[in-house]
Amino acid sequence: SSVKSDHSRVSLSGSASTDSGNALRGDSLDESANHNDARWPRQNSLSMKEWDIPYDELKLFEVIGTGRFGTVYRGSWHGAVAVKLLHVQALGDDVTPLDTFKHEVATFRKTRHENLVLFMGACMKPPKLAIVTSLCAGMTLYTHVHLRRDKFNANKSVLVAQQLAQGMGYLHARGIIHKDLKSKNIFLENGKVVITDFGLFSVTKLCFGNNARGDSLGIPPGWLGYLAPELARALRPHASVHLPFSKHTDVYAFGTVWYELLVGEWPFKGQPPEAVIWQVGKGVKQSLANLQASRDIKDILMLCWSFHASDRPDFAHLLSTLEKLPRKRLARSPSHPVQLSRSADS
Ligand code: ADP
Ligand code: MG
Repeated sequence: SSVKSDHSRVSLSGSASTDSGNALRGDSLDESANHNDARWPRQNSLSMKEWDIPYDELKLFEVIGTGRFGTVYRGSWHGAVAVKLLHVQALGDDVTPLDTFKHEVATFRKTRHENLVLFMGACMKPPKLAIVTSLCAGMTLYTHVHLRRDKFNANKSVLVAQQLAQGMGYLHARGIIHKDLKSKNIFLENGKVVITDFGLFSVTKLCFGNNARGDSLGIPPGWLGYLAPELARALRPHASVHLPFSKHTDVYAFGTVWYELLVGEWPFKGQPPEAVIWQVGKGVKQSLANLQASRDIKDILMLCWSFHASDRPDFAHLLSTLEKLPRKRLARSPSHPVQLSRSADS
């Protein structure tokens, strides 16, 4: 099963978060087990238990925010945690959403990287479905850029982008597609980048019955700028579509984060969603005429935003490009390393 792109479903029939289309094969124990396509091989259901947190053991404090997921609480479970409690409507006899949830949890638990939020476990007994991760300190990149209007100079932008490329490169190497890379899912903790919500996009659709927060197309504000042309073209007014997420669509989204860092806005600022979708789908890009930046820096944007998915670079390539960008201040005063925290967090 070598599927190129991951056809996630906005509706809830089992979707996969990995390139191979089977997030569960990552376990060494499973490799030799019979593969006659049981979706939940025995070994896996056993190992899943290690990640099952009894709901009663969680302490929930205040609500941090509400997203498409449901509600995020500050909580406690052997220390400070973030608990994403999903708003699940009665599942009835349909076990598919639960399978989707477990599937994505299975993906999540495979990740260990400095720039990725730490997954601690999940509550998997309906109707209490929750994902428990470490509590991110600091603020999201979204808050820095769009709410506080903090300025990121080229050096700081590069440091953030490098860490993003490292975390994303790791995810891709593990066969995981983020599907929802955006500044709201990137935390800055004293200059360290922490990426959240990877591979959970289909789970968010568990709670998508309430389109109230989106517009007529059910599109949450700020989401469109991250959508690659092939995704924009697949959008339909009624939510039940397959969106062809892939590593390439993650790279496109990374391009948009790079743009936010450089410009302090989303691309296609102020334009109605229909106009953005139409332009992106046709291959029209946000103009960079007013962006004061070097050729190299603009080239990264244009490459990530390539119309054809296969023309976009991968994260390993992006990382080496970013590392080669000239950084004058760093070169001049090596004894004073740039500290993101100084200007971005204060
Ligand atoms: P979105 O990503 O669209 O903002 P979420 O449901 O993912 O929606 O998050 C809701 C709120 O909870 C946001 O303000 C987000 O910054 C915050 N949040 C999510 N995960 C964490 C975490 N691990 N640590 C701290 N805050 C978090
Ligand atoms: Mg989020």
